[in-house]
Amino acid sequence: MDFNYSPTEEKFRQEVRLWLDVNLPEDLREGRDEELAQDERWERHKTWHKKLYEGGWVGIWWPKEYGGRGASVIEQVIFSEELARSDAPAGVNMNGITLLGPTLMHWGTEEQKNRFLPKILPAEEIWCQGYSEPGSGSDLASLQTRAVEDGDSFVVNGQKVWTSQAQYSDWCFLLVRTDPSAPKHQGISYLLVDMHSPGVTVRPLVQITGDAEFNEVFFEDVRVPKKNLVGELNRGWMVAITTLMFERVATGGYFRFEKTLPQLIALARHVELDGRPAIEDTSVRQQLAQFAIEVGAVKYNELRRLTRRLKGQPPGPEGSLAKIITTELNFRIANFAMELLGPYAILEKGSPFAIDHARWSHRMLGARAGTIAAGTNEIQRGIIGERVLGLPKGR
Ligand SMILES: Cc1cc2nc3c(=O)[nH]c(=O)nc-3n(C[C@H](O)[C@H](O)[C@H](O)COP(=O)(O)OP(=O)(O)OC[C@H]3O[C@@H](n4cnc5c(N)ncnc54)[C@H](O)[C@@H]3O)c2cc1C
Repeated sequence: MDFNYSPTEEKFRQEVRLWLDVNLPEDLREGRDEELAQDERWERHKTWHKKLYEGGWVGIWWPKEYGGRGASVIEQVIFSEELARSDAPAGVNMNGITLLGPTLMHWGTEEQKNRFLPKILPAEEIWCQGYSEPGSGSDLASLQTRAVEDGDSFVVNGQKVWTSQAQYSDWCFLLVRTDPSAPKHQGISYLLVDMHSPGVTVRPLVQITGDAEFNEVFFEDVRVPKKNLVGELNRGWMVAITTLMFERVATGGYFRFEKTLPQLIALARHVELDGRPAIEDTSVRQQLAQFAIEVGAVKYNELRRLTRRLKGQPPGPEGSLAKIITTELNFRIANFAMELLGPYAILEKGSPFAIDHARWSHRMLGARAGTIAAGTNEIQRGIIGERVLGLPKGR
């Protein structure tokens, strides 16, 4: 493994860094941004997204023919590192950019590609992912939302849940059952549904953080043109898996931890324990050192994953490892911050006495969600058990 960057890659890094230094508004840097109410945060991220887009920095790994830069894997890593270094938010429409876009490039008809791809990077159309249902999460293939053919349309009835950003979305890539008599993986189709169609109702679900990151979405006799079917009728499971593969590749990442750790250390310097800065306490120092070791381990696991990609090898179990380790480390760091804060931990955003704008309690309350989203950690452990340890398949 070679840890050095080539002169061309270093030049690219300088280009990104310079652009961010000039263009990133001070008030968008993380920490201040976390203080805002959700809708305001969304609007500001959208504005930032437009700026990133105009600078040519959205979806840099998309092929040039679809508006990307055709950036190499290493350039993507450099770009992510620089975004994290400058505390820049990532922008919006991640469901469109990282999931639906690449899926359509692979499975879409020319007409679908021409219609939908150009509006994804500029976030002219925001996308959400309509997979999970009240009775179908980990066992996704058991989904019950029905689509029945009627002339040149499908008529969709059913309910999705946990649909992130549905309240802001214009379109949804939706899994529906089109053949209830077939074995469960074989009767599913993949539709592109206009969220502004009659019969679509979105109800935000407020989480313990106070944000409504996700929603319930109801479909009542919603008509979807047949030309919005991706892949073949009843063969949507293959398309759905393609999307999930992009989701697994996107999940994880160590860059944010390299920012979180110094923030945690700054907190330990700021708060007191027995009348002295908490950082002077031996057990606090040991815990901080332990986190530093684990962040290092996350980084090298990510680099191992990167090496596989650079060698053109298929994704290995490192993705499942990264998902478990990063989400659980994130949870433990947030909880340790709560211990450091003591009674200040209960103060919420907006309180004049809150330390660090109450970002730690917001993070602690939100951290559990990461262990569930994009395939629960129990499911990831199952994957590791089977593929790495060679254990018998679970039931
Ligand atoms: C923040 C967040 C955002 C999300 N965004 C979206 C979105 O945009 N679109 C979307 O479609 N979905 C979204 N989801 C839903 C997510 O994909 C599901 O929550 C997840 O797949 C788990 O499904 P479930 O909640 O139905 O839990 P279940 O599958 O019912 O699982 C319940 C519990 O049983 C465990 N379990 C289930 N099966 C097994 C097994 N075989 N082995 C061991 N343990 C098992 C699980 O780990 C879990 O602890 C989001 C979830 C979160 C938390």
